Amino acid sequence: EVTWPDGNGESNGTEKKQKARVLFMRVIRLYRPDFLFMLGAFIFLALAVLCEMFIPFYTGKVIDILQSQYQWNDFLMAIVFMGLFSLGSSFSAGSRGGLFMCAIGRFTKRVKVQLFGALVRQEIGFFETTKTGDITSRLSTDTNLMARAVALNVNVLVRTFIRTLGMLSLMLSLSWKLTVLMLMETPLTGLAQNIYDTYYQRLSKEVQDSMARTNDTAEEAVSGIRTVRGFNAERSESRRYDARLMDTHKLKTHRDTVRAVYLLVRRLTEVAVKVAMLYYGRLIIQSGQMSTGNLVSFLLYQSDMADNIRTLIYIFGDMLNSVGAAGKVFEYLDREPKVKTEGTLKPDTLKGHVQFHNLTFSYPTQAEQQVLKYFSLELKPGKMTALVGPSGGGKTTCVSLLERFYQAQQGEILLDGQPLQSYQHKYLHNQIVMVGQEPVLFSGSVKDNITYGLENCSLERVQEAARKANAHEFICQLEKGYDTDVGERGSLLAGGQKQRIAIARALVREPQVLILDEVTSSLDMESENMVQQTLANCPNQTLLVIAHRLKTIERADQIVVIDGGTVAERGTHEELMDKKGSYYRLRERLFTDHNTTQGQH
Ligand code: ADP
Ligand code: MG
Repeated sequence: EVTWPDGNGESNGTEKKQKARVLFMRVIRLYRPDFLFMLGAFIFLALAVLCEMFIPFYTGKVIDILQSQYQWNDFLMAIVFMGLFSLGSSFSAGSRGGLFMCAIGRFTKRVKVQLFGALVRQEIGFFETTKTGDITSRLSTDTNLMARAVALNVNVLVRTFIRTLGMLSLMLSLSWKLTVLMLMETPLTGLAQNIYDTYYQRLSKEVQDSMARTNDTAEEAVSGIRTVRGFNAERSESRRYDARLMDTHKLKTHRDTVRAVYLLVRRLTEVAVKVAMLYYGRLIIQSGQMSTGNLVSFLLYQSDMADNIRTLIYIFGDMLNSVGAAGKVFEYLDREPKVKTEGTLKPDTLKGHVQFHNLTFSYPTQAEQQVLKYFSLELKPGKMTALVGPSGGGKTTCVSLLERFYQAQQGEILLDGQPLQSYQHKYLHNQIVMVGQEPVLFSGSVKDNITYGLENCSLERVQEAARKANAHEFICQLEKGYDTDVGERGSLLAGGQKQRIAIARALVREPQVLILDEVTSSLDMESENMVQQTLANCPNQTLLVIAHRLKTIERADQIVVIDGGTVAERGTHEELMDKKGSYYRLRERLFTDHNTTQGQH
């Protein structure tokens, strides 16, 4: 697992660089399928740089021609060449940019798809412990950053490298003496720039930290306004805020002064160097070793050269920074799901016999709270089991474990005598299907939602399932019937309608084990009765029904009361009523609750 340390641990600087290099190379390798685009881009890049490089050369030449007793043709030729090189440079630069953007676009899309694939394979616990914002920002921002930063850095590096080499040779051919003079100065400015950059970054970070502290102070006071008021601390809070602002202000002033002084010194140095070059150039021209035009060309190169050196020094630092985003992307890309989805078993016939064996389970987010304690339950094939109990008792947790959303810490779940995890993922979720407490639909048509996750499914099957779920009629009344768009998260439908589509979505798979988790709570009485009829029409399916309305479950083959993660009671409705135990009490309480709510409406 690759993790990118985003803290500022300076002690492991080399290790960090090493890691950055590995990440960088990995991004480069990921670019392999875009090789042709990249190659094209680099060819155009080289062309652009070469063409660009001759422009100052011809500028000098034009000056020399103008100074002599020139022929019109010579002048024209020089101008035409200059134009051609400019044109060539613009054309190549454009093509280079286009090809790079293509490569980056293809790369980003590929990485996003891969990352998304890796994300949706993760165990449910991962999504509970990871902020959704973090996930989506890695999908959007970090993938973009990673693609751009690396490609642009390589681009700039190559361009600057070619330019530096080319310019150096041209400058040497113009005047080796001036070149040597320049070479003594440029690295020094580069070094100064580098030192300044590091220092400036540190100062900027101090400013940012200080601003954050200032904001914290304000936030603390605002969120604790009752305490501030109650203790008459308005003035002291203001003073505290003022003091913090003053700190920030001082740091900012310091930073900006450093910047101003540096820029001033840099400009002065540049001017001084220019003056020195002109002075020395004059001597060389006087001694006849160089023409005026050559000196102009040289000076034009020289100012570009300083930029080049600065860029080269800067780019190495930036290259290492650019992989920060890549590190984040790879962290998720490489993450192994803690609950594996793949088994191999997929028997042709399944009885739907489910056994929970001594399950002990706590959620990843709250490891210390045991939600199920040595919990055992058997769902007999073709029978209906009802799970009841107080809210928070652990009913939905049982369903989640049966869906393999989580892995129990102890005990196991058997399906037809085989451990649940040995079944193939796809098979399992066609055989054990649940309708959740809050139905989740996705944007798309009604039909898309019913056939969700199935590859080809005829309209007849969809309609049959919808009829069973008592949804067919209302779907037909929708504007476009089964092709009606349900909106984002099904927002265009009413709660009960969503629930019935969710039931149809489960029934269309003809599962051997069907789980209904409090589906009746958002259905009206009539639909509920229909659902009950549906359940009665599924004599071969194993049913697990979790319900508040106890009427639904009276005819269950077995009723299990779960409280505090353990089985409190089990038996048929009559048995449990006779016993006058927790089921009886639960029933009484819910019955009165139900009446009160009804009375209020
Ligand atoms: P029920 O469905 O019977 O109302 P649940 O199975 O949803 O109860 O919840 C059982 C217990 O587990 C509750 O204490 C609840 O707070 C806790 N719980 C449920 N879901 C989660 C979760 N995703 N993460 C942490 N704790 C959870
Ligand atoms: Mg629940």
